[in-house]
Amino acid sequence: VLLLGEVIKAVMKYVLVTGGVVSGLGKGVTASSIGLLLQACGLRVTSIKIDPYLNKDAGTMSPFEHGEVFVLDDGGEVDLDLGNYERFLDVKLTRDNNITTGKIYESVINKERKGDYLGKTVQVVPHITDAIQDWIERVAAIPVDGKEGPPDVCVIELGGTIGDIESMPFIEALGQFSYRVGAGNFCLIHVSLVPVLNVVGEQKTKPTQHSVRGLRSLGLTPNILACRSTKELDANVKGKLSRFCHVPEQNIVTLFDVPYIWHVPLLLLDQKAHEAILKVLDLPCITSKPMLGEWTARAKVCDMLNEPVRVAMVGKYTGLSDSYHSVLKALLHASVACRRKLVINWVSASDLEDATAIENPDVNKAAWDSLKSADGVLVPGGFGDRGVEGKIIAAKYARENNIPYLGICLGMQTAVIEYARSILGLEDANSTEFDPNTKNPCVIFMPEGSKTHMGGTMRLGSRRTYFHATDSKAFQLYGNQRFIDERHRHRYEVNPDMVSKLEKACLSFTGKDESGTRMQIIEIGSHPYFVGVQFHPEFKSRPGKPSALFLGLIAAASGQLDVL
Ligand code: GLN
Repeated sequence: VLLLGEVIKAVMKYVLVTGGVVSGLGKGVTASSIGLLLQACGLRVTSIKIDPYLNKDAGTMSPFEHGEVFVLDDGGEVDLDLGNYERFLDVKLTRDNNITTGKIYESVINKERKGDYLGKTVQVVPHITDAIQDWIERVAAIPVDGKEGPPDVCVIELGGTIGDIESMPFIEALGQFSYRVGAGNFCLIHVSLVPVLNVVGEQKTKPTQHSVRGLRSLGLTPNILACRSTKELDANVKGKLSRFCHVPEQNIVTLFDVPYIWHVPLLLLDQKAHEAILKVLDLPCITSKPMLGEWTARAKVCDMLNEPVRVAMVGKYTGLSDSYHSVLKALLHASVACRRKLVINWVSASDLEDATAIENPDVNKAAWDSLKSADGVLVPGGFGDRGVEGKIIAAKYARENNIPYLGICLGMQTAVIEYARSILGLEDANSTEFDPNTKNPCVIFMPEGSKTHMGGTMRLGSRRTYFHATDSKAFQLYGNQRFIDERHRHRYEVNPDMVSKLEKACLSFTGKDESGTRMQIIEIGSHPYFVGVQFHPEFKSRPGKPSALFLGLIAAASGQLDVL
């Protein structure tokens, strides 16, 4: 096999993915799929996501509005698209791989205060636009795949839609950048929409024409068009787009609706998108087919699954699945590995509570029916007190009825609170996050960072957990390793002063930090599968390498735990 990365060294190649017409076209998935396809051609690929909002990072943004906050090894709180990149490319990105307006302006203003521009007027062009280009060049060279030396290709996704006011400095910078790196090193892929009008059933090219015109007026010329449409583009539609947008027909691909996102790379492969990209990037076309065998096989398996495994997701933001994006992905990875079709029973935590039962009995009944018909229960992370009592109720139900349970972060904390209340009889046991005056604080504020600032001050990123018991299910699922590294994002933890009492009542603290004061894994030995973790194992789950604890949950929920 010819490894392109070994043939062409030295010059970094850039693929920019922009979006037009409307948001929500799946630009992130398209960009990740392009990265995967290039990787399958033997290239080492990294990626950068640009979010033109003013927040410095996603850490202070509501998952309800923006989807989950993804956490990286280095503690970066970033856009969920970085999760797609990590999963598709099996890489580990850094916080700098997510560029925001906030970060760029902060770096320029810091330089201005230091006196680096002394005597000059600091302006969007050239200072902001230079800062953007320098940032891209610096970050693109960071190895993210565990190998040494810079990657071969950097896929840059520009968030938002062409024409947004906020993205203007980025567009200007990227136009300059394409000139700076030169033709043959830069490929612009524009993701657009070709709507079909039901009355006539005709694929309409005008919105794409307009958005390409907008792009060109801003100094960027697309090399490839990726058109979202319900079905493949008709030949005459492609011809029309080619003529009006000045893009060769073989460089126009259709992203028609597929059953699942794992099909997107295969769709691009079928339409030979890699050949078009390699040509624009002045890279020799490989003779053999890109190596996507394993990926293809997994997508096929996923399509054919029909025996369900039902997992109740007991959360706060149940109306918006993006809020729990990585948790859902991790559940899927584990379900495919266990050859089960994943079915999510969404349960809004507060609907399980007594107050709902009194005020709204139907809603309460529906929530309980949903919980009770599940084979396993997952309580994900969360902040704020809405729904906390419902999460405690869900943990109690799973514990008492031997239903497999995985509690993540807040889901572990609520399980501990439940145990203290039910087994130790401490009725007012609580977390000081929800009841600062509780007489039995079993979860307390244990920050690593600032006590006054909200942004980036939690216990964040990769931390080590040491196993404290060999009969632990978690220990065995992780492959009998002495320790593991997982990603954290929290301020509160199990109160160390309560641990011995809980332990005596048979709640096992099977994983702790190095000092032994931070409790990171709980288990109930006598239960088929009752695990709570202070970290977020979902962030490191990969399609071909499901997270150990999710695998445990799905295996237990589908009666396969003994087989593992
Ligand atoms: N709110 C809890 C804390 O800060 C849990 C956080 C989480 O679930 N990510 O510790």
